[in-house]
This record gives sequence, structure tokens and C-alpha cells, in this order.
Amino acid sequence: MYTNFQTYLQTTLNEIKQAGLYKNERVIVSPQSASIGVAGHTGEVINFCANNYLGLADNKEVIQAATEAMQQRGYGMASVRFICGTQDLHKQLEKAISEFFGTEDTILYAACFDANGGLFEPLLTEEDAIISDALNHASIIDGVRLCKAVRYRYNNGDVADLEEQLKKAQAQRFRIIATDGVFSMDGNVCPLDKIYELAKKYDAVVMVDESHSAGVVGKTGRGVTEQFNLRGQIEIITGTLGKALGGSVGGFTTGKKEIIDLLRQRSRPYLFSNSLPPMIVAAGIKVLELLSKSNELQDKLHTNTDYFISKMQQAGFDIKPTQSAICAVMLYDAVLSQKFAAALQTKGIYVTGFYYPVVPQGQARIRVQVSAAHTREQLDKGIEAFTQVGKELGVL
Ligand SMILES: *Cc1c(COP(=O)(O)O)cnc(C)c1O
Repeated sequence: MYTNFQTYLQTTLNEIKQAGLYKNERVIVSPQSASIGVAGHTGEVINFCANNYLGLADNKEVIQAATEAMQQRGYGMASVRFICGTQDLHKQLEKAISEFFGTEDTILYAACFDANGGLFEPLLTEEDAIISDALNHASIIDGVRLCKAVRYRYNNGDVADLEEQLKKAQAQRFRIIATDGVFSMDGNVCPLDKIYELAKKYDAVVMVDESHSAGVVGKTGRGVTEQFNLRGQIEIITGTLGKALGGSVGGFTTGKKEIIDLLRQRSRPYLFSNSLPPMIVAAGIKVLELLSKSNELQDKLHTNTDYFISKMQQAGFDIKPTQSAICAVMLYDAVLSQKFAAALQTKGIYVTGFYYPVVPQGQARIRVQVSAAHTREQLDKGIEAFTQVGKELGVL
């Protein structure tokens, strides 16, 4: 009988709506790109809220690689990896990811959510500990929940607090410190150099999620391990193909070979979920090939990000300190952030306002994500629109 349950669900949905937290999805009617068509809006809008950092989501060569792979290798694998779902392409992509990060071996997943979800449980038992940054991504939190290890939490990026937790965690056998590379709401980079030092001092393994940093952070976009000169030294890196690295789907864990090998034997989202389809895998190989041939896109992204942030600061906006392509324009007030985003859309600028509970109470903001695909003209239009709306709404 659905009756009582239905009433309960309707009440819950109404509560979400009354709290102003109901998420309506805006509909895009074009490929994902720096400039997109949106249902109900005449003319294109400039997109400042995709994870399309390198502009590869509609790259012609990537699409060509995916198309050819589908023609030659079919649509899907109809199997998990260890039964009959491994093609040479999967092996090639795993090798290319290892080369990109300077690691020993790589295992692919359907998504980084799965990579993180299936990471801890095969490696640790109730005798061990996970020390996790308070602002880690939901998928790391869920992965930690699925594992029996003792949990410790440290304040975001706070190495003194991390050290305190590591001292407590000496009670356990093995320890993994888990952190995002870039924290998605502020754009700050984890202090990986200090984390690594503490890991050595307190006998811990380090796991870093490079989802928002791969392709973005570091001189050649190899992520936070490049930024901190720690290539090949961090034991576990997870990441996604769904952001800078093409923008489609697919996740991975890359690092020490014994870790990857054990994950292949025991990681549940790998063992019990379908292999990535050939077209996605071939497109991933093409993305990494493009990035290995030239640093043009990463350079363009860095130039665009520096330009956007400095112009926004000059205009008088309060920008959270960032070391990535994420630029949090602080408005503090939730209602204001929604008004601001709506006003920007009427001016052809597509952004999202974030407020509690996605960010702390009183920390509402608009998160701008800069892309290598943005032209200087598009960035200027964005800055101009922000400035106009900022004046209209009394922010500037
Ligand atoms: C986006 C993101 C994920 C999820 O990646 P998917 O491949 O889309 O599942 C995991 N971790 C972090 C830090 C992310 O930003």
C-alpha cells in the first residue's frame, strides 16, 4: 500500500520546497560548451558553471575518437571487467592515466563516486583508521561509511588538527589520510606538502581525490601532486573523466600497484558493475593524448582564471582565496545569491548560487568556474554583467 508512504513523501517534498531548497533543473538544448542554448531563453548564454575546465566536452577530436571506437568496438561491453568486459582499450586508458599522474597502476570505475565508494572497504578493517578532511566530497564520506575502519575528522585544510587526529590514530594498525585535491566550494587546494610530511611522521598512507584538480592545478595540469612536487609519491589518487578530462563519465583510482591489484580483486563497484563502454574509453585515451602533446589548454585556463579573478577583485567583489579554476564570489546572503544568479541569466550569464546547506550558514555565494574554452570577450561580458548586477543589487 502506497497511501501512507505517499503522504509522507509529499510532506517531505513540500518541506524542501518551503525551505527554498528544492532543486529545479534548467534544461540545456545544445552541446555542453562555453556558450550554450537554454530552454526558455532566446539566444545563447555564456556558461560559467560547468566542470568543463579545458573545454573538451565538445572537442572535435574527442568526439571523433568516441565515434570511431563505437563503430569498431561496438556500443557496450555487457559485462563486468573480470568476466568478459576488458578490451585492450581499457588497458590503454589505465596505462595513460598512470603516465599522466606518474603512478604505478590504475583501475577504472564507472564514476569517481564508485572509485571512492569502493576504495576503503577492501583495504582497511576495524583495526585501522581513516583520517578525513571535514569538507571532503560526499563520495569519500560514503566510502568511509562503507568501511569498518575507525574514523577521525580534521577541520578543512587544518594541518595542526590533522596532527592531533594522527596522534589519536596511533592506536590503530594502519592509517589513511583522505583529502580532496581542490575543495569544490572555495576552490582552495589541500596542503598536500604538509599532509605528506605528517603522513611520514605518523606512519600513514595518503589518498587525494584529484577530481577538480586534474587538468587544472599544477604547471602542466597534472594536479596537486605536480603542484607540490610529489608526483609518484602519494600512494592513492582518485579522479574523474567527467570534469576537465573530457566531461563525460568514468572514474579511476591510480597509485601503488599492490593497492590497485587488491582493488581489482575486492572492490565492489568494480566487481559488480559494468565496464565503461568502448567509446568513453577511447575518448579518454584521446583526451590524455591531447594533453600529453601540448600544454596549450592548461596555459589558457590559467591565463583565463588569473584574468577573471583579478578583474573581479578590481571591480570590488569579495572572492575566496583560490588556487584552482573555481572562483567563489561571496554574497553571504542566500536570497541575494538567488536574485543575483537570476539577474545574471537575464543578461546571458549562466551561473549557480550556492547557499546553506551546500555551504555553511551565512556563506552564500556564486561559484564561477572558468574554462580554457572561454574567450576574452566572454570573460569580459561575464565581468561586465557581474558588475552591473552587483551595482543594481547594492553589492558593489
Ligand atoms: C565530482 C567529484 C566526484 C564524483 O565524480 P563522478 O565521476 O562524477 O562520480 C568525486 N570526488 C570529487 C572531489 C568530485 O569533485
